Amino acid sequence: MSNSKNKWRHYLYLYMITVDCKDVESILHELAIYVADQVAAMPAMKFHKFVLAPIVDDEPVDQTLVITAIKEFLESIGEKPNFAVISNGENVIIKSISGKKIEREAKPVGEMFSCAHCGHVTRYEVEHFNHVKIHYL
Ligand SMILES: [Zn+2]
Repeated sequence: MSNSKNKWRHYLYLYMITVDCKDVESILHELAIYVADQVAAMPAMKFHKFVLAPIVDDEPVDQTLVITAIKEFLESIGEKPNFAVISNGENVIIKSISGKKIEREAKPVGEMFSCAHCGHVTRYEVEHFNHVKIHYL
């Protein structure tokens, strides 16, 4: 049993990408949803960062696409020149060049549904309730 568990952990480590958002905290949720949409991954929100996991088990999340999507999003809000997107193994770090962070009003919480068990986020109430059910099976 412990053997197969280790295998699973190794697998996750190789296939997931963590995006460090310390310098762009105020856009973390919007950015995670956008990037996940672009690369067809499942976002999970953490403290100061989000994790992208593959929807299809044997398809790793493409780091190049993740970086491109992050840059597109920063460009769309006019912040691209102010931030560097750095990749480091399975981690992608969004670093403020000037040290200035993005000041932005967070989207109203009511627009998003976040799972209390794993951080899974969706815009759709139905999808949210269907998702939460999997934790009770
Ligand atoms: Zn969940």
